[in-house]
Amino acid sequence: MTLKQKTWVCLAVLAAGAILVFFVEWLGGLLLAAGLILDVTWIKCPHCGTWVGKYPGKYCSSCGARLPWNETK
Ligand SMILES: [Zn+2]
Repeated sequence: MTLKQKTWVCLAVLAAGAILVFFVEWLGGLLLAAGLILDVTWIKCPHCGTWVGKYPGKYCSSCGARLPWNETK
């Protein structure tokens, strides 16, 4: 998966959680937490490991390295 695809997966999980929380509170909360954890563990600069946050953003805000959004790792 590319970084961009991972960002979409995180957003999808978060969106599902945000909707579900109105119907099944604990399940929605669980999905929101999972989305945040996925985001923090997946969307990182490959050079320095700093959390990048969200797409777009061509360069790492910490070390200035170019971010490989479309490269498969
Ligand atoms: Zn970096």
